Amino acid sequence: MAVQQNRKTSSARNMRRAHDALKTTMAIECPNCGELKRPHHVCGACGYYDGREVVKPEAA
Ligand SMILES: [Zn+2]
Repeated sequence: MAVQQNRKTSSARNMRRAHDALKTTMAIECPNCGELKRPHHVCGACGYYDGREVVKPEAA
């Protein structure tokens, strides 16, 4: 197993972690109902994906 020879400075550690924050999830309008939904996910409002209903909406 590889073992590090030198300890990283707190500065280098913090610079690496500067990119660890989670990004805000992006959203698009559902082409069926117009609600905001995540791309490549079933719409939570109407249950549509790829032009057809794949799941029943929660509040129907
Ligand atoms: Zn929808």
